[in-house]
Amino acid sequence: MTNWKYTTDGDVAIITWDMEGRSMNVMTADVIRELDGHVDAVLADDSLKGAVITSAKNDMGGGVDLTMLAEIKATAAKEGGNVGEALFGFVWALHSLYRKIEVAGADPKTKKGGKVFAAATPGTALGGVFELLLACHRRFAADNEKAKLGLPETLVGLFPGAGGTTRLVRMLGVMGAADYLLQGKLVNPKKAKAGMLIDEVVPADELVAKAVEWVKGSSESDAVKPWDAKGYKIPGGAPYTPQGFPTFLGATAMTHGKTAGVYPQTNAMLSAVYEGALVDMDNALKIEARWFTSVLMDPRSAAMIRSLFVNKQAIEKGARRPDVPDAKVRKVGIIGAGMMGAGIGFVSARAGIDVVLVDRDQDAADKGYATIEGLLDEGVKRKKVTEDAKASILARVNATPDYDALKDCDLIVEAVFEDPKIKAEVTAKVEAVIADDAIFATNTSTLPITGLAEASVRPDNFIGIHFFSPVHKMMLVEIIKGEKTGDLAVAKALDFVRQIRKTPIVVNDARFFYANRCIIPYLNEAMIMVSEGVNPVLIENAAKQIGMPVAPLQLTDETSLELGHRIMAATKAQMGESYVGTGADDVITTLYEGEGRAGRKNGKGFYDYDEKGKRAALWPDLGKHFPVSEDQPDFEEVKNRLILSQVLEAVRAKEEGVLVDIREGDVGAILGWGFAPWSGGPMSWIDLTGPKEVVAICDALTEKFGDRFAAPALLREIADKGETFYGRFQPQQAAA
Ligand code: NAD
Repeated sequence: MTNWKYTTDGDVAIITWDMEGRSMNVMTADVIRELDGHVDAVLADDSLKGAVITSAKNDMGGGVDLTMLAEIKATAAKEGGNVGEALFGFVWALHSLYRKIEVAGADPKTKKGGKVFAAATPGTALGGVFELLLACHRRFAADNEKAKLGLPETLVGLFPGAGGTTRLVRMLGVMGAADYLLQGKLVNPKKAKAGMLIDEVVPADELVAKAVEWVKGSSESDAVKPWDAKGYKIPGGAPYTPQGFPTFLGATAMTHGKTAGVYPQTNAMLSAVYEGALVDMDNALKIEARWFTSVLMDPRSAAMIRSLFVNKQAIEKGARRPDVPDAKVRKVGIIGAGMMGAGIGFVSARAGIDVVLVDRDQDAADKGYATIEGLLDEGVKRKKVTEDAKASILARVNATPDYDALKDCDLIVEAVFEDPKIKAEVTAKVEAVIADDAIFATNTSTLPITGLAEASVRPDNFIGIHFFSPVHKMMLVEIIKGEKTGDLAVAKALDFVRQIRKTPIVVNDARFFYANRCIIPYLNEAMIMVSEGVNPVLIENAAKQIGMPVAPLQLTDETSLELGHRIMAATKAQMGESYVGTGADDVITTLYEGEGRAGRKNGKGFYDYDEKGKRAALWPDLGKHFPVSEDQPDFEEVKNRLILSQVLEAVRAKEEGVLVDIREGDVGAILGWGFAPWSGGPMSWIDLTGPKEVVAICDALTEKFGDRFAAPALLREIADKGETFYGRFQPQQAAA
């Protein structure tokens, strides 16, 4: 199979990437080998001045095929080879090819006689593909608003390790490159040009012609990159210069402040940048390749790639979808135009689905419509949405109190008040007008689906689709099967989530489903600690150090103490005598009932907020109600309490069959409530820590704090047998 086409236009070769049978090009071992051959052909052909590297697809390419990494490791391990060597071999092959393009046959001493390579990207170019662009002498991009350019590696546990880190720092300086490298910031072609990531934005139909024209008119000096020319200095200065020193110091401090040092890839990247800046280009690339290999060998990075790339994609592509024909949604009816309903309406209409937004009266429905309009206006203001797009999205929304308007909807999402009686009334009213095969979904956050389905005459078509707030920002959607939910309903829900480009997990019915069930014990554990006299600053910092993006007291403020109070009251009412109170109840009651502190929403919670709503310091009077004791606990113990409160609940969800697939448990935890992403999720965290070690921590915590830390039987069994979670449930991914 050929992946590239090689043609010529006079003295310019045109190397066009077009992988058969794929809508998007990706870097594979074959792609790299073939391109290497074509580059050799250009360099060996005296009649050529240079080449244009482009793509026949809408985009240049999505990056390196990361599934290949696991294959390289597995093959090396199976054949008894050295895994590190095998990985470095792959990394170095890519580096060598890109450097060959960059040097382009020039004499190593005089730098004369090199050919030129221009890159011409019709659309998106990410990761390893964008690094190919960086190796070229000039970069052209088609004027394509939808195109995304950049280096998102850090988001999946890697860093740009095919020369991208070294080249970008040499192009933009450490500070200039920081956002692209550390945050994986992606930009469209115009912004990329303004940021000097690319050289020219040209009309799409002139893309290759312009690049060819440039190669034809290029001069010898165009073939020499600035860092290969005499007297080159890194913008902003190298580490041991008066200007560069504070920059490097600042960048390191800033990065550690943001990441708490838990991400192996950012530490390795900083080292590659620092050490690389001290030497010439060839040595800098070697240093980068070695640090990159060390990241590939780090089990934390492997766990991140497994969850955030491989399994997230598998889930999005329908790993859990029942085998029924395409069930794409044409028209969705949303009942309840409040905060959630309007958000669901917005993401649906944006995805091209017709929306009927129903509320109790026209005013309430109009409010939902206005919320959608507001979100679009924000997009227009930030230049993410054009006025035309806004108009066509709004034209898809019919806001009305008239249930008859729902009659040709093939999916209903109910998002009215969290009251089973109201939900039952709405179910009956809707089912009276919709078709027999339409699916009815409820967005309830706490009420079991099986119970709500009792109000339905078609319980097999009844399902839970649980969104998180704010709907337009949160990527996870929980799909909940009631006892009687059928395959068509699951397929419909999954196809809907795919249409609106979010990530679904499919779980079975239980109180709080999966995500909320795990997050509540985390928030409670922090409040229990406050009630015990643990310093709140210690609690918040411990959470940051285990890699939680938002500390628990801060998160309680964000979701509101009022909600915490409501959940506490509802749980008490439902569990009756069997309810076991904890110190968290005292803290919630004291703050919310006693002091009227509802959280960010009323500007006072565990923290104080200024008039603009900006979080200030912890509430100084917290210590009056819950004095900080003189004897503070061991920091490790606080960290263990915070992480295990989440992890053990996830294991219980698996044990009870609420969670079916551990891949969903891991991906859902990271996307749903920000569970320490560096670990790849709760089950991956257990495997990384070692199940035996986790059980030992549980035993110690149980003795001190009680049964909530008791190791679930499933965990104990896995530990006793010397297994791991992935080893047992996903054996082919166990050695990720
Ligand atoms: P909300 O109060 O903002 O909106 C509810 C809307 O339902 C209101 O506009 C109300 O007028 C409308 N409504 C009430 N009775 C109705 C009826 N009989 N017919 C038509 N419309 C009716 O509430 P919300 O925060 O959007 O929550 C809605 C649902 O989503 C609840 O079940 C809630 O548990 C769930 N949920 C909320 C969140 C969250 O963070 N707020 C997250 C996930 C799920």
